[in-house]
Amino acid sequence: MSGEDIEVDSTVFPLRSKKRKSHRRMKNVAKLLKLRSHETGPSCNCTRFKCFENVTERERLQIIKQFNEHDEQNLYLTGLISHAPIKRHRSRKNNDEDFEYHSYSYTYKIRVQRDNTAIEVPICYKAMLSMHEISANRQQNIQQHLTTFGH
Ligand SMILES: [Zn+2]
Repeated sequence: MSGEDIEVDSTVFPLRSKKRKSHRRMKNVAKLLKLRSHETGPSCNCTRFKCFENVTERERLQIIKQFNEHDEQNLYLTGLISHAPIKRHRSRKNNDEDFEYHSYSYTYKIRVQRDNTAIEVPICYKAMLSMHEISANRQQNIQQHLTTFGH
């Protein structure tokens, strides 16, 4: 086991009502993120969106400033997350609540000003945490709220 291994599936984050397997892992990520930097968060190093290449340092400072000045931070974050249910085979043998088998995929974005135009840039889960300096726990609560209430 390597302590440096913080690979987390960035876009598919299954929510189950009972099992919380990934909980500990997410906590470790948050801990690592916290340890590294308090300026703008550490790079996600993802190859899918290349978040920290696509978003300049200046833009990242703008984002964190905007976020910190925002009164309704959770609401603000909710507006940057989209979720969609993942269709999958459902086992019919035990008729537990449907919710047990529901997973959602989440997508994240940020809004930045470029050439006087507000544009939306897709980012990964890690970048979402890092750029707003929020904990995985908090993010998880927001996502749970989102899938429970739909907004
Ligand atoms: Zn990324």
